[in-house]
Amino acid sequence: MNGTAHTAIGAATGFIAANTFQSSPTETMILVGLGAVSGLMPDLDIDGKLRGKITLSHKVIRLTALFIGMLMVFYSFYEGRAVDKWLGIGIGLAIIIVSSLIKQKHMLTITGIGVLAGGISLSEIWLILLGVYIVIASISSHRSYTHSILGIIFFGFIASKLEGSLGIHGVYYACLGGYISHLIADLKILPFNKRGIKLFLPVSKIEL
Ligand SMILES: [Zn+2]
Repeated sequence: MNGTAHTAIGAATGFIAANTFQSSPTETMILVGLGAVSGLMPDLDIDGKLRGKITLSHKVIRLTALFIGMLMVFYSFYEGRAVDKWLGIGIGLAIIIVSSLIKQKHMLTITGIGVLAGGISLSEIWLILLGVYIVIASISSHRSYTHSILGIIFFGFIASKLEGSLGIHGVYYACLGGYISHLIADLKILPFNKRGIKLFLPVSKIEL
C-alpha cells in the first residue's frame, strides 16, 4: 500500500479517536494530524520517496547536524554539571563526526540523531525515543521491525509520553491506532499486498 493510502487511513483513525474522546475542534485537528503521521511511521524503513520527503537536502542536513553538534558541545561545556557535562560533550562530538561522514543513504539516520539530540536538550522523553525509533527504522530492512509487535509497543510508549507532554486526551489512541492501521493495511491476506509483515520478530520470521 502506498503512502497516501496509509496517511488517509491513519487520519481516519485519528478522527475516530477524536470522536471517542469528544475533542474540541482544535484537538480534533491535532489528533487527525497525529493519526496521519503515525500511519506513515512504519515505512520510514523504505528507501526512496518517503525518506526524500522528510529529509532536507544533503548539505542542509550536514550543516544542521554540525551546528547542533557544536551547540551541544559548547552548551554542555558551560552549563552542564558532572556526568551531564561529559555526556553532552560526547554526544555533541559524535554528531560532528557522524555528520562529516554522511552520505545520501545515511540522511534518515542523521535526521534521527538530530531528533534525539533535540529531545535530550529539551528533556522531552518522547522526542528522545522518537529519535531512537527513526535511527532504528533507518537501518532496518523493509517490513521488518517497524512492522512488528515490538514496533507497536515501542511506538505506543512514545505515544503515551507524547500524550503526557501535550496534555491532550486521545493522543495515545490516535497515534497507536494510526500505527496499527498501517500494519493491518500491509497484511498479506489483503489482495493488493505481494508481501506481508513479520509481526512476531525476532521470535518468529513468519510472514502474515
Ligand atoms: Zn508498510
